[in-house]
Amino acid sequence: MFLACFHRAEFAGAAGGFVYIFAGMRIVHDKARCAGHGQCVGVAPELFKFAPDGSLVVIDPNPPEELREAAQDAVDVCPVRALSIADD
Ligand code: SF4
Repeated sequence: MFLACFHRAEFAGAAGGFVYIFAGMRIVHDKARCAGHGQCVGVAPELFKFAPDGSLVVIDPNPPEELREAAQDAVDVCPVRALSIADD
């Protein structure tokens, strides 16, 4: 049986009659909930920034696994729980 983990939904493999589709982490930003205070930008500037209009931008919604800790820090620090991580 073949089993591996890939960064993005770039791979679909077949083994033993089953198809495995691997995807990576996905940052989910609830814009309606976001209060725009920027704690996420403070702890993970590689993942979040503000647009000129003041709205939050998720720089890479599907970041590499190396940034999971930064993404989790942002999720944890958000006071209104506007961020979450989905593992697709
Ligand atoms: S910490 Fe939460 S509420 Fe603040 S800007 Fe980031 S996502 Fe929005």
